[in-house]
Amino acid sequence: MKIPFADLKAQYQSIKTEIDDAMAKVIERTAFIGGSFVSDFESEFAAAYGIKHVIGCGNGTDSLFILMKMMGIGPGDEVITVANSWISSSETISQTGARPVFVDAEIDYFSMNENLLEEKITARTKAVIAVHLQGQMCNIEAIKKICDQHKLFLIEDCAQSHFSEFNGKRAGFFGVAGSISFYPGKNLGAYGDAGCIITNDDDLAEKCRMYAHHGALKKHQHQIEGINSRLDGLQAAILSAKLPHLASWTEKRIQNAAFYDKWLQGIPGIILPKQRPNTKHTWHLYVIRSMNRQKLADYLAGKGIETSVHYPTALPNLPAYQYLGYGPTDFPVATELQDQILSLPMYPELTEEMIKYIADSIRAHQ
Ligand SMILES: *Cc1c(COP(=O)(O)O)cnc(C)c1O
Repeated sequence: MKIPFADLKAQYQSIKTEIDDAMAKVIERTAFIGGSFVSDFESEFAAAYGIKHVIGCGNGTDSLFILMKMMGIGPGDEVITVANSWISSSETISQTGARPVFVDAEIDYFSMNENLLEEKITARTKAVIAVHLQGQMCNIEAIKKICDQHKLFLIEDCAQSHFSEFNGKRAGFFGVAGSISFYPGKNLGAYGDAGCIITNDDDLAEKCRMYAHHGALKKHQHQIEGINSRLDGLQAAILSAKLPHLASWTEKRIQNAAFYDKWLQGIPGIILPKQRPNTKHTWHLYVIRSMNRQKLADYLAGKGIETSVHYPTALPNLPAYQYLGYGPTDFPVATELQDQILSLPMYPELTEEMIKYIADSIRAHQ
């Protein structure tokens, strides 16, 4: 059997007519930038998510940057985020001129250890970027409480957590705003780069929309200097075609996670991912831990099973952050995790048979 890490082609084939029609319409109307395909998707996504404002932009990295810029974050400020994430969560802090400050992860849920957050807050701290990694919410209620006490902006990086929930409330509803990525491999993915900001704050929404469109809400009326970060018509139309399927795709991911839990039970030497109580996990990734990760990954590759690592180096350990002067003992949990984590194939089109084959292969190796 050959099992790829992700299978975007299988998904395309399952909705080929809808996607092809959507793309043909955009081309027919040459509605490549702006226009109704973009505004339609923004309203559809807002309605589906239950949020007031959706501001499409170029990708899920820009959405973080735009948010921080419009909150007035810049040189001299500090913004706190988690030590294990994709670099977007921290590089955008530096892009504003502010300084990224990292909090270590906690071992059970791979997310920010909220107990270590408060000690990182200084007089210069302006915001916290909470990351909901792998489809699993971090302890956002505790983080929000700390942010409120210290009057800090809370931004949620929801790139991996479309429609995830914590105590019945969706990712992006706890902070001032959420940042979403539609990178092709995300749970809702475009056919290129795309992202959006979600918020219930009218003023912030308008500022972000302006900044993402060269500082102008109307053509040629530039109130400020901005950037060019737009969701394009083709991507918007593709996302509109995919959005009605997202709920059932998410259900399949949840089911597949349950199949993994079942078939991986009792295998020595690996640790299965845990779901935080009272949350809806949308299983962007299914990440196990192994004490001999590389050997296991190589063995699985030999069995035709493609795996991945998200992410092999914790952010503070990257050469990009050498200037901050951290050592591996500063973030012991994130550093431990980076060497143990292994992402197994996870997508709606996986079958129980494939999952059983993956589990049997892991059992044979151990
Ligand atoms: C994918 C991702 C992003 C960035 O999204 P892009 O659309 O690729 O720019 C940001 N944060 C996290 C945690 C991500 O996984």
